[in-house]
Amino acid sequence: MKITILTTFPEMFAPLHTSILGRAQQAGLLSIREVDIRAYAKNKHHNTDDAPYGGGAGMVMLAQPIVDAMRDVQGADFRGKRIYLSPRGQTLTQAKAEALACEEELILLCGHYEGVDQRAIDLCIDEEISIGDYVLTGGELGAMVLADCVARLVPGVLGCEQSAQTESFSSGLLEYPQYTRPREFEGLLVPEPLLGGNHAHIADWQLSESLYITLRRRPEMAQAFLAGRKFTRHQQKVVDAVFERIRAEDGAASGAREE
Ligand code: SAM
Repeated sequence: MKITILTTFPEMFAPLHTSILGRAQQAGLLSIREVDIRAYAKNKHHNTDDAPYGGGAGMVMLAQPIVDAMRDVQGADFRGKRIYLSPRGQTLTQAKAEALACEEELILLCGHYEGVDQRAIDLCIDEEISIGDYVLTGGELGAMVLADCVARLVPGVLGCEQSAQTESFSSGLLEYPQYTRPREFEGLLVPEPLLGGNHAHIADWQLSESLYITLRRRPEMAQAFLAGRKFTRHQQKVVDAVFERIRAEDGAASGAREE
């Protein structure tokens, strides 16, 4: 997969060239590059922004350098998605990241200041994506979030594909807690089922913990998971035990409040 990021701050992107994504690029699984929009500005001082028509605070990024940069980068036979990071966009989800990971190429446009001249969006953007309901100073952090969560789904990037399938959101539940050595840390023990090497017990514990955490933190997500699922008789017992645990905890808590 090829990801190109159009930005006026290319120096911000070191995180995308470090650790897992850095190694994936060295191995040729992935290409991520930043293109400086300023290099395409045709005006005398290479400005990339100007005051908004209609007045108001802040500056707006000029259409010309963005459109020229986009046309240069995409070339004649572009097959992929051109995305503008924007608080007005559709909110990024794991499902969206999975869909984008199937594209051959992504071009990400980072706005800054008050945003981008609408004509640049009209001329060369396929989709607007937001990373959440809050406003950032620029699209660079958003582009990093998007590039990271898409790139790690590219086959071979993580090394162990199963880890992407079992983690939060991919399975329909939030992930169970993880532990590593030592067995005891400051008096806290690794849960017993993880120590015995019995894969059936481990799977039961993981399902039980995932469902418990999801019911507690994201009940709507847990309900959607449960609604669309057929469990074996054994799994159903595990699920019932989780509901029993929650009822017991809630009963104890309301009893304590009444005292
Ligand atoms: N005036 C714009 C508005 O009210 O919608 C906000 C502009 S924001 C200060 C500057 C740039 O940051 C945007 O052009 C966009 O690229 C980026 N940005 C801000 N919040 C974002 C978000 N939640 N998701 C993705 N990009 C965002």
